[in-house]
This record gives sequence, structure tokens and C-alpha cells, in this order.
Amino acid sequence: MKIAELHNIFLQNPSVSTDTRKINENDLFFALKGDNFNGNQYALNAIDKGAAYAIIDEEEFAVHEKTILVDDVLSTLQKLANFHRHYCSAKVISLTGSNGKTTTKELIYAVLSKEYRTIATKGNLNNHIGVPLSLLNITPDTEIAIIEMGANHQKEIEFLSSIAEPDFGYITNFGKAHLEGFGGVEGVIKGKSELYDYLLKNNKVIFMNADDPIQKEKLGQYVLKYGFSTVDSKFYTITMTTADPFVRIKVENIDIKTQLIGAYNFTNCCAAIVMGKYFNVALEQIKEGLENYLPDNNRSQVLEKNGVRIILDAYNANPSSMTAALENFANLRATTKLLFLGDMFELGDTAPEEHQAIADLAKQLGFENTYLIGENFFTVDTDCQKFKTFETLSEFLKKYTIPADATLFIKGSRGMALERIVTHI
Ligand code: ATP
Ligand code: MG
Repeated sequence: MKIAELHNIFLQNPSVSTDTRKINENDLFFALKGDNFNGNQYALNAIDKGAAYAIIDEEEFAVHEKTILVDDVLSTLQKLANFHRHYCSAKVISLTGSNGKTTTKELIYAVLSKEYRTIATKGNLNNHIGVPLSLLNITPDTEIAIIEMGANHQKEIEFLSSIAEPDFGYITNFGKAHLEGFGGVEGVIKGKSELYDYLLKNNKVIFMNADDPIQKEKLGQYVLKYGFSTVDSKFYTITMTTADPFVRIKVENIDIKTQLIGAYNFTNCCAAIVMGKYFNVALEQIKEGLENYLPDNNRSQVLEKNGVRIILDAYNANPSSMTAALENFANLRATTKLLFLGDMFELGDTAPEEHQAIADLAKQLGFENTYLIGENFFTVDTDCQKFKTFETLSEFLKKYTIPADATLFIKGSRGMALERIVTHI
């Protein structure tokens, strides 16, 4: 079947599903394959549950009039998404970077949706499947689509750019994330820059954080189309206080009080402000969008439990986000600071040195109560308390009374699930 023909079917049934457990009436079911499953086997089940059609790529399952047999389901999904992206007139903004993509995406959405019919990637659907699914959420009346792109290998962003064909792009930062797959920090810079490469080659607009030394230095060869330094010379932060750990930004005469913590969120907000200004959203609207945004999913959340303040950043961790977060926590004025740090994954051979560096940094920043959790942290040379497993930490916490005036900072890779600490408080 030609993509144009499939697109006509999609226009009549503009909702896609890849999971029969979550299928809705009239969805188009795409029978994707994974390491441990073959979607083709679920095609009939999807049709039973009300799918309009099931797109499959194994002939033996083409036993129902509602199956559509294609060469390859995944590449058909990607081609359909690209076709649809051209069919609709929405401008596409793509985001990538090592840290802060989802947060920045949501902040940009909060600002631009004040003025435009905007859609954004749902949650974290940012890979070779998520990007097509996000593009298929664009409707003919969408004006702006904000698409998050994630990668952990070279050429992935190039490929995702060829599907999304963004008109605008922004890289949040180049950090020490997915070092294993990218081949070191230089590899990360090269891999993430594929977005800027695409935009330049196609004469599109780059938003660049010109205050970021790596972006400035390593990407000197890029024509700077829009940089914070050129646009936002009026931004400045207001010092954080104990009572108010939240990022505040003064831009022109407007004081924006966000519900976000962490100096890195200042940069994330700046990206949203710059884009808001670029798209002519009034500053008052930008302010409203940013002030109402609340992080979720354990991303830099501030909680309060039994009088203890908890900064829960347990969503994920890598050396650069860990460093940024520790420096930020060091600047926060609080009486008793407790640090709970969990292992950082996907570091390959550099894992021992990166974990050692974080333990050293915690010491250097003067934190007195640091608890390290996980097999990697367990091997570092430090006088901090170490726990090889979460269970041993749990045993410790059961007997330990956290001082009532304490502020806790919790961060580790997703697999560490350090949000479990909160139940012990
Ligand atoms: P993923 O790779 O899982 O998609 P992401 O890039 O979308 O991650 P977020 O989910 O927005 O990132 O944020 C994850 C964590 O990264 C935050 O909780 C925070 O600790 C850290 N972070 C957010 N923004 C930045 C930034 N600009 N620089 C460094 N660290 C950041
Ligand atoms: Mg994300």
C-alpha cells in the first residue's frame, strides 16, 4: 500500500496504537516488533478490541480484511509520520540534548500554547517510535508541534530529524549522558549536534544557548541564528533563599516566580522565554505559562513530609546532571542537608571514575551527610556512608531519625528508583 493511501486511512482514523492493552475504538494498530514480542501476533486481538485496521508485516497474519500488509511496520510508521508532518502546516520545533529535554519541552509548551494551537511530545516518547507517534498527534489545525528527540548513539538524531524535518531546533546541553553508546563526551557533542547539522543544511532556525561554553566553543562553526546572549541580555536570576528555593527570573520588568528548582531550570526557562518572544507571545502570557508549570515524575520536585523538606530528583541521573544538581543544592541555604545519591547507569568503562568524581565533589562542596547507594558508589573511596543495595539503605533508614529541620536531596538513575526513600520519612 502506498503511504498516501495509508495516510487517507489515517485521516479517517487519526489515532495510532502500538499496544493492544491500551487500544481504543477505531485506532490504527501498528504491529511493531520488539526483542521479546511480535506485534503481528496481536493483530487479531487489536481488531477484536475495535481497531479500525491492523498494520502488519508477516503474511501469515493477514487473515482478516482489516489487516494491512506492509514490508516493514516500523518504517511504515516512520514514513507515515513524515508524510503527515508535510500534510499538516504546523511548524515543528525539535529538542534534543543530554539533560532537560522533557522539562524544556513542557516549558516551551506552557508558553507557546498560550497563543497557539500547540501539541508536544507526550511524556518522554522521544525515540524512533516515539517521534513518529508524536508527529501523528499533529492535527490539520495545529500551529506548532514541539517534538522531543532522544538518542544514545550516533546518527539517531540525524535519522529522527529526517522524519520530523524540524523548522526550529534547540539543544539543551551536551552532558555526560549515555557515554557508553555515544563514545565519550566528544561523541555526545557530535551525536546531539546532528540536529543543528540538519537545521543548518536546510536553512532552518537554530536556538542556541550561547552562554553554554561547549555550545559556543565546539559549535563555533555554526551560524548563530538565535542565541540567548543576543536576545536575552536582560535575564538575570534572583538569589535563592531558604524560604524560596525556586528559580526566579526577571525579564524586562516582569518578575517570574517559577515552581522549579535548580539553576539548570533557569536555562530551561530561558529557552521557553526566548521562543515565546520569537513567536510574539506577550511577556505576561509567558510569565503565566512558566509560573503555572509544575514538574512531575520525580523531576526536581519539592515535597514536604513530616516537616522535612525533600528535593526529589529521582527521575534520572548522569555525571553532568548530578554535578549541576549538587552545585545547586550547595547554594541552597538550609540548616541540615542530607544527600542521598544513587548509581548513575550507562557509563561503561568510565563508571568507577565518574562515581568517584561525584563522591569527591560532594565532599568538596562541604556536604556532611552524604549517603551513597548502589554497586558503583559502593566501590568509591570515601568516608561517606555507602550502601550496596537499596535494601541495606532501607534497613538503615528504619533505625535512623531524620532531623526535623532537614532538607533532603535525592537523585539517582531511573533504575535505582530512589523515590522509595520518601516512604521512610
Ligand atoms: P531523558 O533522557 O530521560 O528524556 P530529559 O533530557 O528529557 O531526560 P528531563 O526529564 O527534563 O531530561 O530532566 C531530567 C533531569 O535532568 C532533571 O530532573 C534534572 O535533574 C536534570 N536537568 C534538567 N534540566 C537540565 C539542564 N538544563 N542541565 C543539566 N541537568 C538538567
Ligand atoms: Mg525526556
